[in-house]
Amino acid sequence: MLTDNAIEILKERYLLRNAEGKIIESPEELFRRVSRHIASAEKKDRSLWEARFYNLLAGLEFLPNSPTLMNAGNPKGQLSACFVLPVDDSLESIFTSLKDAALIHQSGGGTGYNFSKLRPKGDWVTTSSGKASGPVAFMKVYDAATEHVKQGGKRRGANMGILNADHPDILDFITSKADDLSLQNFNISVGISNEFMKAVEEQLPWSLINPRDGSIAKKVEATEVWNAITEEAWKTGDPGLIFLSTINEQNPTPNLGTIESTNPCGEVPLLPYESCNLGSLNLVKMISSQNDNIRLDWTKLGDTVTMAVRFLDNVIDANHYILSQIKKMTTTNRKIGLGVMGWAELLMLLEIPYASKKAISLGERLMKFIKEKSYEASTALSKERGSFSSGQKRRNATCNSIAPTGTISVIANTSYSIEPLFALAYQRVGILGGKVQNEFNRVFVQKMKELKLWNKEIENEVRKTGSIQHIKTIPNDMKELFKTSLEIPWEYHLKHQLAFQKYTDNAVSKTINLPTSATIDEVSTIFWTAWKYKLKGITVYRYGSKSKQVLQKCNLN
Ligand code: ADP
Repeated sequence: MLTDNAIEILKERYLLRNAEGKIIESPEELFRRVSRHIASAEKKDRSLWEARFYNLLAGLEFLPNSPTLMNAGNPKGQLSACFVLPVDDSLESIFTSLKDAALIHQSGGGTGYNFSKLRPKGDWVTTSSGKASGPVAFMKVYDAATEHVKQGGKRRGANMGILNADHPDILDFITSKADDLSLQNFNISVGISNEFMKAVEEQLPWSLINPRDGSIAKKVEATEVWNAITEEAWKTGDPGLIFLSTINEQNPTPNLGTIESTNPCGEVPLLPYESCNLGSLNLVKMISSQNDNIRLDWTKLGDTVTMAVRFLDNVIDANHYILSQIKKMTTTNRKIGLGVMGWAELLMLLEIPYASKKAISLGERLMKFIKEKSYEASTALSKERGSFSSGQKRRNATCNSIAPTGTISVIANTSYSIEPLFALAYQRVGILGGKVQNEFNRVFVQKMKELKLWNKEIENEVRKTGSIQHIKTIPNDMKELFKTSLEIPWEYHLKHQLAFQKYTDNAVSKTINLPTSATIDEVSTIFWTAWKYKLKGITVYRYGSKSKQVLQKCNLN
């Protein structure tokens, strides 16, 4: 059932090893170890739950985030992927969170922070009678630490760094990755309020506020900040935007504080010291076929959601927490994030082009169903186990997130998250220590064979270009169905993000991939539309604008 790629990645990063570094479990034993550990949170019928969870994982119908797969069963096993840590304006706070972040990274988790409380560069420091270094300098310290803390020798940690649009250092922050060398272990995002967007819209002056005393450090034009953001995002992909007003309008626990940050890829807004564990349904496994007619199996989907919510709720109790504060926050709110992977492949199997109204309405219907079933499952759990805080009927403050599924979709052998295919054939570079691998998408090849369109000539063309748009012998409907990321207009990328965000209580991690020819104005329109759509964050990436890319179009010539 597992592909060679999946087995290789499991061997490289997930399978347990002994003290000599020798692998001591098979993939089946990995799924057994994880299901047994997660079932240990059950009060009754543990072996029954273990068997159910095992079938879910071994059948590749649902996979939890990487730390759960790597660490479950280990007595100090940290199982969550997503954390937010506070950074206050003192060395004590900066270096406490740096140490906590190092421990989280070592355990396989990723961390997000908002650096806006730090006084700006050059500001007065009483204790040393000197000048402050400012947020960007401290981010570089975090970045250096991340570089040297490997996750059990497997991968480096990941960070999200946020600075709000009214911080005096915002312009430095926006260009902090411009050299393509700095902050390589950070995604950076500007924290955006509705007030800022209105100031941009009405072309008003915009005050940059010193967080140390609330004084106005400088007045600029709001459009100056906006233009700097869009130009830099156009050039390099960074920064993205995080819409903090929208996020806080939907904060499920406003009594516990304001949300200032998300995890590294943006799919989980969290309070300081909160963590969240994720899992994704493999949509390609949620189909049934009758007389060659492929349909979405809603009953199977519903049952899988119910089981996955229980699994993720168990993770909270089976988890080992690195810090007591994180344990407290996480077990108080019990946030989980159930999402999806394989959306593009599901659409291809159903013969629905990604860039079509039909795809958008199915996306909405699907996610609405997943959300409703998740809430039903969480409510049922609250009757059995208690709710997340008084006065609420559910067990979990949030239930859904759309994560990027960067490695779990390789294990499940399907397309990433809700992203369209990047290419029909590609070289995967870097994911396994720099090895280059060539791959054709299997759903595409299967369809071509069915239609008797697959021959050496087409194979070579697709290998060379990753696309079928230019091949004369391919019928138009197949060209529509197999459009790849850069061939899909940004409007449709954004509409998919919106369709899923509408029914996702956390957030959707998505990259709006753009061809090299995209303009700064287009980036500006995309960012603007994202805010109007009430998305929680937005990231663009223009092809070729970074020196290192994980996926590159196939070009073997
Ligand atoms: P996976 O497929 O490995 O489970 P995803 O690509 O879906 O993970 O990412 C989900 C979240 O996991 C990210 O938003 C981030 O919080 C965390 N994460 C991903 N990669 C890393 C990493 N290299 N180090 C630390 N955390 C990571």
